[in-house]
Amino acid sequence: MLKDGAMKTFSAVPGKERSLEVACNLCFSNRYKTVLKSAYFLFVKSSSCGLIYQNPQPLFADHKERYTADYFKYEFNNEENFFRLMKLGLKDICMDRLEPDNGRGRFLDIGCATGKLMEDMRGRGWQVQGVDLSRESAEYGWKKRKVKIFAGTLEQAAFQSGSFNIYSLLSPH
Ligand SMILES: [Zn+2]
Repeated sequence: MLKDGAMKTFSAVPGKERSLEVACNLCFSNRYKTVLKSAYFLFVKSSSCGLIYQNPQPLFADHKERYTADYFKYEFNNEENFFRLMKLGLKDICMDRLEPDNGRGRFLDIGCATGKLMEDMRGRGWQVQGVDLSRESAEYGWKKRKVKIFAGTLEQAAFQSGSFNIYSLLSPH
């Protein structure tokens, strides 16, 4: 079991979001064990491949309502703490030691908020790109960090297949 304290909190407590049971994205299995339970969500581990993912997942139509100006303020005010948590997560999967191949490594951060992780990865030689639902976050990332953040969904960004070497979906909630 993961520890409840080692995770990110919410900018706003999720309201009455509808949610849907989903299969594992990696192996499509519906068999899993619960690994983390809180008042607002469950994380499960696929019995087949071991992937840990949120299940059930909030419906996008409801979930996107969280990405308001308050979300941006919350991310901005807590970015050092959240960055520290992300670094711990990256270390767990040894991504902190991953080096770009001859400066050609391309990194996509899905749900990148203010672009703090992208800035760090760029400093380590990666070409970086981000996607976030918050327009405020995208603008902040570009103005203050000069990192490119697409404001919208991954589907809307419509990147070409094979555009990136690494994808990060690190979101501790
Ligand atoms: Zn799986």
